[in-house]
Amino acid sequence: MSGILVITEQSGGVWHKMSFETLAAGQQLGRELGLPVRACVFGKSTPSADLAAYQLDAVIAVEHDLLEQYTADGVTAALAGLVKDLQPDYVLLPHTYQVRDFGPKLATRFERVLLSDVIAFKVDGQSVAFERQLFQGKLNASYASAAGAPVFVSLQAGAYRAETLVAGSAPVETRNPLLEASQIRQKPEAPFRESARAVDLSAAELIVAVGRGIKEEGNVPLVQELAEALGAELAASRPICDSGWLPMERQVGSSGQTVAPKVYLAVGISGAIQHLVGMKGSKCIVAINKDAAAPIFEVADYGIVGDLFEVVPALTEAVKKA
Ligand code: FAD
Repeated sequence: MSGILVITEQSGGVWHKMSFETLAAGQQLGRELGLPVRACVFGKSTPSADLAAYQLDAVIAVEHDLLEQYTADGVTAALAGLVKDLQPDYVLLPHTYQVRDFGPKLATRFERVLLSDVIAFKVDGQSVAFERQLFQGKLNASYASAAGAPVFVSLQAGAYRAETLVAGSAPVETRNPLLEASQIRQKPEAPFRESARAVDLSAAELIVAVGRGIKEEGNVPLVQELAEALGAELAASRPICDSGWLPMERQVGSSGQTVAPKVYLAVGISGAIQHLVGMKGSKCIVAINKDAAAPIFEVADYGIVGDLFEVVPALTEAVKKA
């Protein structure tokens, strides 16, 4: 067999939104290369039927009791069996925390590398070049994978759009891998999980981000209130996190998280390249800045030139009334 295998991610029946972005990328790659596309979802039980609503050649649910709790060993063993069986040319994964954990391990099972955090691919005939960012996003580098298969690739949040997914239907097949508890070295009492305080901003649909324009820590709740009124995640530029005004896991940018929400509202953020690289994949960018020449307006879809201390409370009030 050959083709493209897209590995998706869910937890307790709730999809990670990057799963659908990766599926969209898989469909596009499949169309451009003329290859079949299969999607895989793993867990104790999985919402595999959801994937059957898309134009795919197959949906494979990899289910086992030992996959109820995520462990790199368990997932790697289960997926390695599937990859060995299907022998895909390309394995696409979303660049989530879990994939950062098990992705390289899975690739090395096949003596391959994981091309991680890829932002685009370009097809030329039957060869594919994958683009990654270098030097805080100042340069894009094009990577051709070493000869042979499979090529393992993880895709950055927002690199491909879930809205471009083509609906259709696909047969669902359930596989129960042969997994033994002895294959899993992680202790059950210390499973992989993001730290209790960690926030996965890459899964957020709405983000309100605050920058140094907020002036001091005591003013941060002003923006937090707007985020809460909108039901948005609160994020920040680096100086805010460096100052300890918000925790590090709320930082967006080259040394923080990469996000691609439906709406990204940047409040008092200038738009330095290191910040832009983490959020420019957002579907709609709204900026509030008192400086009309701030670079953030170059990437913004909507801009409000004004004092955030006037604009933000007015917005919060309007949202609460709506
Ligand atoms: P500033 O650049 O100081 O901008 C503040 C903005 O607020 C200005 O545009 C100003 O006009 C506006 N403002 C001021 N008062 C008001 C007001 N009352 N109302 C409305 N607007 C107002 N940065 C990141 O964000 N994320 C990263 O991951 C990151 N990684 C980095 C990695 C490296 C190696 C380096 C060197 C830098 C990195 N930076 C990162 C820092 C980055 O270069 C910028 O310094 C930072 O993004 C600036 O943050 P800011 O926009 O909040 O602050």
